[in-house]
Amino acid sequence: MKTTDILIVGSGCSGLYAALNLPDDKQITVISKSDLESNDSFLAQGGICMLKDDDDYDSYFEDTMKAGHYENDKKSVDIMIRSSQDVIHDLVNYGVEFARDENGHFLFTREGAHSHHRILFHEDITGKEITRHLLAAAKAKPNITFYEYTTLLDIVETDNTCYGGIVQKSDGHIEVIQAETTILATGGVGGLFQHSTNYRHLTGDGLAIALRHHIDLKNIDYIQIHPTTFYDPDTTKRSFLISESVRGEGAKLYGKDMQRFVYELLPRDVLSQAIYKKMAADHTHHVWEDLQPIPKKELESHFPNIIRHCEEKGYDPEKECIPIVPAQHYFMGGIAVNYESKTSMENLYAVGETACNGVHGKNRLASNSLLESLVFAKRAAHHITINGAILPDPEALDALIQAIPLDVYANVKQIEKNYHQIVKNAIQEQRDQRDDRDSHEPFAFNNQ
Ligand SMILES: Cc1cc2nc3c(=O)[nH]c(=O)nc-3n(C[C@H](O)[C@H](O)[C@H](O)COP(=O)(O)OP(=O)(O)OC[C@H]3O[C@@H](n4cnc5c(N)ncnc54)[C@H](O)[C@@H]3O)c2cc1C
Repeated sequence: MKTTDILIVGSGCSGLYAALNLPDDKQITVISKSDLESNDSFLAQGGICMLKDDDDYDSYFEDTMKAGHYENDKKSVDIMIRSSQDVIHDLVNYGVEFARDENGHFLFTREGAHSHHRILFHEDITGKEITRHLLAAAKAKPNITFYEYTTLLDIVETDNTCYGGIVQKSDGHIEVIQAETTILATGGVGGLFQHSTNYRHLTGDGLAIALRHHIDLKNIDYIQIHPTTFYDPDTTKRSFLISESVRGEGAKLYGKDMQRFVYELLPRDVLSQAIYKKMAADHTHHVWEDLQPIPKKELESHFPNIIRHCEEKGYDPEKECIPIVPAQHYFMGGIAVNYESKTSMENLYAVGETACNGVHGKNRLASNSLLESLVFAKRAAHHITINGAILPDPEALDALIQAIPLDVYANVKQIEKNYHQIVKNAIQEQRDQRDDRDSHEPFAFNNQ
């Protein structure tokens, strides 16, 4: 058995930023199911939102609410927006470089459903720029220890209070990590879907464990689908995004008969529905996207990564159409948390994409997720710092841990399979219970 003060499950931006905001005199253990860099935080392309000035507050608030179909938790939205400058200030202090003009002022870009330019970016690899700096800063701290390829299989719990986790280590051994406080930062659920832009190992493990222990969840059927990703029949790989701005620049969508069937700049959810409908009518696994209407110079300068990917897959987008399919992209629901990221269980917090504080409502506004992950990870760290944990009677805890039948966890493959099914069932059940379920985006789980 290993003992630590705080166990953080996940090495994406939310887990790392929580670790960095905890006191130096706490021993912190960060575990990751894969290597430390393989997480969605490293994939984020577009950018991270920031409140530019007070004049933009109302507009930013309204854009976030409108995207979320006004189901957002208003206080969460307010906290996120008002904390954004503080978080960006921290990131810059960690060495993160955002694009700036010749006078050194931030450059802001804009994405779909934003009324103003308020998104900071670093080329088209903003997530990597942010997360690699957080990781470097966390690795430099002597009180933070990392374990790669270490998977959380369950939590240690009694009387709705968490005392750490049961993990499978990289050498295959099952071990208890006893902790005063545990933070779940396990990311999204894309690995459960047939097509997803997420890493395939992100399968909602935090949710499965929460379901097992009757921890409150919220809106777990609120799944964001991206309408246009490159169709790859090999669904063991994550889907490659064909950015919305490609359509903004003039790309067209065709069915099997190579005729347009939809206006390409419809809102994401409506467009995804139209594509799914066309695929069903045509009995196909994809539709076609034609990038040739985009001037050659613009295509080559603006979208070099997309061209490279298509070419690697055997398509020349300057001469032919490419196959496109909608794919799961983001998870708005999750483990229900309060404004300090605390779950319904004592000593247990959840941050990042696996948590739901209601900030995104029914649908996420572009580039709000990195920001939300960081803002509420820092709040979790502060809450833990101020409030500490409910400390057990040492003898009783020892007895509890000794009584855990570790051999029950020996068949990890079977546990994972069960967890995947538990989460899929829970998502489907919640969707089936919605009165307005037909207005939601359709999705397809994988068969694993
Ligand atoms: C292609 C793409 C582009 C995106 N672009 C943007 C963008 O431009 N702007 C924006 O704001 N957002 C964007 N997002 C969303 C954003 O990247 C994520 O919402 C955010 O990074 C989630 O961070 P996280 O820390 O919650 O999870 P992640 O960064 O995904 O980290 C999850 C961690 O949990 C670990 N883990 C999972 N299960 C277990 C387990 N059982 N045991 C141990 N460890 C476990 C994983 O190994 C990983 O380390 C994008 C997402 C994708 C996929």
